[in-house]
Amino acid sequence: MRVGVLERYREWLPVDERTPPVSLLEGSTPLVPSRNIGPALGLERLYFKCEGLNPTGSFKDRGMVVAVAKAMEEGARVLVCASTGNTSASAAAYAASQRLRAIVVVPAGEIAMNKLSQALMYGAKVVALRGNFDEALRTVRELAAHYPVALVNSVNPYRLEGQKTAAFEIVDALGDAPDYLVLPVGNAGNITAYWKGFREYHQAGRCRVLPRMVGAQAEGAAPIVQGRVVEQPRTVASAIRIGNPASWEGATTARDQSGGLIDAVTDTEILQAQVLLASSEGLFAEPASCAPLALLVRLARQGRIDAQSTTVVVLTGNGLKDPDAALGNVEPPVELDGDARALAKALKL
Ligand SMILES: *Cc1c(COP(=O)(O)O)cnc(C)c1O
Repeated sequence: MRVGVLERYREWLPVDERTPPVSLLEGSTPLVPSRNIGPALGLERLYFKCEGLNPTGSFKDRGMVVAVAKAMEEGARVLVCASTGNTSASAAAYAASQRLRAIVVVPAGEIAMNKLSQALMYGAKVVALRGNFDEALRTVRELAAHYPVALVNSVNPYRLEGQKTAAFEIVDALGDAPDYLVLPVGNAGNITAYWKGFREYHQAGRCRVLPRMVGAQAEGAAPIVQGRVVEQPRTVASAIRIGNPASWEGATTARDQSGGLIDAVTDTEILQAQVLLASSEGLFAEPASCAPLALLVRLARQGRIDAQSTTVVVLTGNGLKDPDAALGNVEPPVELDGDARALAKALKL
């Protein structure tokens, strides 16, 4: 029977019998072998970890379930977060299922409409704050310091505890860790959490390999790559439009301890990778999720990835989250009057 993250990885998480059994059956997402991109790049073992199949459409559910359960255990009735979109959708969903209040603060005009629609439908109070994400985060941190609300941003350590379970799942599916784990880096909680997960499994003898952690930022929002805060982060990939990552040090530690790298890709490369992924694998991921594929394509072409190595690309969020970003890059539907003959003619059959 399918279970959620708290139950599947109970002994690896900071929970006990007092922790409420919160679950939307998150996690246990498919690790899909590449049929076409891997062979085209000369990579024998390329996999996609499809985190867009979580209950609210992104990996955020893994950490949110733990953060919400712990907040409830500590008596909280109100959750608050700042979000570029997916965190708010996730917080709002778990709040709804547990009958808690959720307050989400998003940067005005900067989040994808479908993500906002999720938070609203799940019944959260949504506040659009003028300014960017980093300012929204500062504001909710201050709110949580002075008022009785539980902060469920990724500065909440339980979020990272939940997110590390994705690393466990990859090892459990492959029988060992991959040689490369490639993922997007925004606030850098996820790269920090994966590295923690792989290290814990390694220490417990569950895997022999420790992967090289390869992080992708967007060129207009690449503070870690540039080594300085970006005041006005800009990229089509709203989920990684972050100028001052909360887990900056976690990311550089993961990179350096694993012998990996963090590099930037352009918006054009991101959107090309998004079309490539959807049209050649049948996997539709949001722009932020395609930054790592864009980086992998570049590294593979430069011959920097060993052909026999095992590589996992994390597709962090579902493509349906932000269709507007995608639709500029494909042919619009043809409009047609007429019968089957006219249709056949238009299709050049
Ligand atoms: C949150 C998010 C990211 C960035 O993850 P960080 O932990 O902030 O680095 C990337 N992609 C998607 C779809 C996200 O929701």
